[in-house]
Amino acid sequence: MKLVLLGAPGAGKGTIAKLLSASGGAVQISTGDILRGAVEAGSALGKRAQAFMSRGELAPDELVMDIMESRLREPDCAGGFLLDGFPRTIPQARALQELFGKLGIALDLAVNIEAPREVILDRLSTRRTCENPDCQEIYNIKSKPPAVEGVCDKCGGAVVQREDETPDAIAHRLRTYAQKTAPLIDFYRQRGLLLTTRSTNADAIIAAITTHLAERGTE
Ligand code: ADP
Ligand code: ZN
Repeated sequence: MKLVLLGAPGAGKGTIAKLLSASGGAVQISTGDILRGAVEAGSALGKRAQAFMSRGELAPDELVMDIMESRLREPDCAGGFLLDGFPRTIPQARALQELFGKLGIALDLAVNIEAPREVILDRLSTRRTCENPDCQEIYNIKSKPPAVEGVCDKCGGAVVQREDETPDAIAHRLRTYAQKTAPLIDFYRQRGLLLTTRSTNADAIIAAITTHLAERGTE
């Protein structure tokens, strides 16, 4: 399956992408994870992205498109992909359509994951992330704490609150989503590629996606 996952920060894109990739050939591609990895590694790319990210602002479109073009050319994408956190602006969505054309890829669906604002705010303020750039496992101090406080179950790395998960940066990210990313819902609707889900339960969202794809004859 070749999917774009849309939704506000905290709507559950990453969780859905992880579950779908665990059950079949599609790889999860998270621009947020790639950018955070670059920041941790101190690469030139990371240095450019850092100031935007820590304020909860979007990284520049060309920078993100360069990353995505090389990522989508990697051979593991042939088995399908779940784009988590990309595209995030209308120019990125247009550039992605062009890139798909160039690479001969047909997108199956864009899934718009909706969740109530109070659920989103609660999830973002209680979310914790493994600091190891090669892991980035997500925890939640209420619903999914690590076995040992502050230590990643998977890799032993430090589990911390992201720099952009302060109340100010969260508010900024939600405003940025409403202004820049929400217009993509219409972009994909107009192209007949949109499915909207309104559940906060991951299994129910997965079921809605797989049923929809089966009805359309795409896996
Ligand atoms: P969330 O969806 O929870 O906001 P992400 O991990 O997807 O978190 O993104 C974190 C930050 O990385 C964003 O606030 C932004 O600065 C940057 N980023 C991620 N994806 C993109 C993108 N497609 N375009 C521009 N910036 C991005
Ligand atoms: Zn870890």
